[in-house]
Amino acid sequence: MFYPTRWPTQDENGLDHKIDPPLHLRDNCEMSVESPAPVKSSPAPKPAPVEVPQRTEIQSLYDRYVVPTVNRGLTLTHGKGRHVWDDQGKRYLDLGGGVAVSSLGHGHSAIRETLTRQADVLIHSSNLYYNEGQGRLAQRIVQLTGPGKVFFCNSGAEANEALIKLARKFGHDSGRYEIITTLNSFHGRTMATLSATGQDKIKHGFEPLLPGFTHVPFNDLAAVEAAITPKTIAVQVEGIQGEGGVFVASPEYLLGLRKLTQKHNLLLLWDGVQCGYFRTGRWQSYQRILEGVPGGEDFLPDAIAMAKSLGGGYPIGATWIREPYQNVFGPGSHGTTYGGSPMACAVALTILDVVEREKLADNIRDRGEQLKQGLQALVGTKGIQEVRGFGGLIGLVTAEEPAPVVTRLAQAGLILIPAANHTVRFLPPLNVTSEEITEALRIVEKAL
Ligand code: PLP
Repeated sequence: MFYPTRWPTQDENGLDHKIDPPLHLRDNCEMSVESPAPVKSSPAPKPAPVEVPQRTEIQSLYDRYVVPTVNRGLTLTHGKGRHVWDDQGKRYLDLGGGVAVSSLGHGHSAIRETLTRQADVLIHSSNLYYNEGQGRLAQRIVQLTGPGKVFFCNSGAEANEALIKLARKFGHDSGRYEIITTLNSFHGRTMATLSATGQDKIKHGFEPLLPGFTHVPFNDLAAVEAAITPKTIAVQVEGIQGEGGVFVASPEYLLGLRKLTQKHNLLLLWDGVQCGYFRTGRWQSYQRILEGVPGGEDFLPDAIAMAKSLGGGYPIGATWIREPYQNVFGPGSHGTTYGGSPMACAVALTILDVVEREKLADNIRDRGEQLKQGLQALVGTKGIQEVRGFGGLIGLVTAEEPAPVVTRLAQAGLILIPAANHTVRFLPPLNVTSEEITEALRIVEKAL
């Protein structure tokens, strides 16, 4: 297979584009812009030229044509396994996994073969028609989760949006619409999921938000109980707050939430977009959190949002809805053009096959333990304060802000993802190897 080591210099129209040498991690580089001290005697010295880093061609295209919603760093060109390369040919160990997406790493042959085969058969039809892949994937998700049905969409925000709309529809006739969510949560960037999210920094400027959300502290059952009103219809939580800084729900909280929601006839809505899909070593994080806890095996939310690792990089989202709420959405009540397309479902089915065949849930559980132990040994040194989470969702808490830490690690060849609350996240592919974890630990030790 051909992997380009540089961006091609010719565009599709044959125009040649010179590529300027890029400056890695430009947004995070410190640049000296101090003026020289004034000198009284003449002639006045010329100020030292300030080195303004050249933008590469790709960066310039972004400057001109891409909406600047993110401060980007590297220009990545290709990947293989758990490694990626930038436009200078530099190799990185990618344990950020494109923010918990690349479940099988990069360039996996099974995904490539499925994409190629399915592209020949049927890429898209429409949800006006049946397609085999969607039916089979829904069956697999129901078998893995519990009795119910699945609605397919394209992203985590959409999967959460379906949770919110499910609650609204369910409560509509009784006039109940309020949803209790947690502070420090993250549920997406659409207006509804933004309103559900418990972080002010991402809401700022978009007010007025969708009404009907109450935010309470995470892992605080009494706060949930106190927030219930006659208009409450649901409680929405992540099992592990990922963007918020890898905070794990306690078993008592989860069991208490299930009891409380049942008592008040509320839906328990579960955001498993980041912490789900075997990332903790089990299909959903509540299974891992409640392992060995009396009553834990019976825990089941009323609906679960999934995305990210489900498609391994091919966009797909899914919302599993438990019996007896599975038919709350009737024909015409909700939908999306691309949701559950033949292509997306074929890829998701292939990934599930690989995960099961290669026992990747066990692998990520073990690799997570290896990583956690290695990181815990560094606590108290290099500004490392704490290690949270498990499996393929581990947060390294540092004294420093996460952005410079992530930059330094990337310069040393390790890609990780920043999170809130001074946390840097490891979100490795489920097939990460023991040698790669050792490599990551070596880099962390050296670079921090
Ligand atoms: N929910 C959680 C827990 C997430 O971590 C994210 C994304 O990071 C989302 C929802 C939104 O997913 P997407 O970016 O695919 O819309």
